[in-house]
Amino acid sequence: MPRPVIFDLFHTLVEGADQERDRVVGEMALIVGVAPAALVAAYHASWRDRLVRWDVEETVRLLAGRLGGAPTDDQVTRAGHLRRALARRVLDSVSAATLGVLDALRAERHPLALISNATSETAEAWPGSRLARRFDVAIFSSEVRLAKPDPAIFKLAAERLGVVPTECVYVGDGADGELAGAAAVGMTVLRTTEHNDTDPSWGGPMLAALGDLPALLREPAGPHLASTSDSQIR
Ligand SMILES: [Mg+2]
Repeated sequence: MPRPVIFDLFHTLVEGADQERDRVVGEMALIVGVAPAALVAAYHASWRDRLVRWDVEETVRLLAGRLGGAPTDDQVTRAGHLRRALARRVLDSVSAATLGVLDALRAERHPLALISNATSETAEAWPGSRLARRFDVAIFSSEVRLAKPDPAIFKLAAERLGVVPTECVYVGDGADGELAGAAAVGMTVLRTTEHNDTDPSWGGPMLAALGDLPALLREPAGPHLASTSDSQIR
């Protein structure tokens, strides 16, 4: 069977949109009546809670409250709309080339999964995106309440694909220690630098362009693409 491929989302399949995120949070701050720079800083400081615990409205209400604000329900809802619209825009920004890579992998019958450390609005926007129908499995930290690099989230993706982790190839830019996390459960790891050089200290194989992936996976498994179990057998 062609090897299952598991992708990260931000800075792997789409841009991370880091600056736009800060700009949108600044606009949200004006709606809920707190200082934009302070809300941006509070957003950055609370990333862990946002990935696995809070939805958009909880985030806005809690963080604005910590900054001395007392937004009304209507203000919280309006601020949340901005963040939801951002999530849709970021998913919509996927390039035709990336969609083409996914289609090529599907045509060659590679099972495909996504594991994303993402806040709830991205998980909500996913089913309506052009990416969603190309994946057999999509796992968001906000839905499963686990985040990379926890080995459990990688094992969950393999389990939902109906395979063992050592059969899988994991492709990501390397944020949040994901490459080490995937390697720890025995996945073959490819670091992509197409969008961002996130984890230059990673010593494993690198993929400069996602477009090279289908051909790379077609090669007879070289040592760098051998799964952990294969290497142990040799
Ligand atoms: Mg990433």
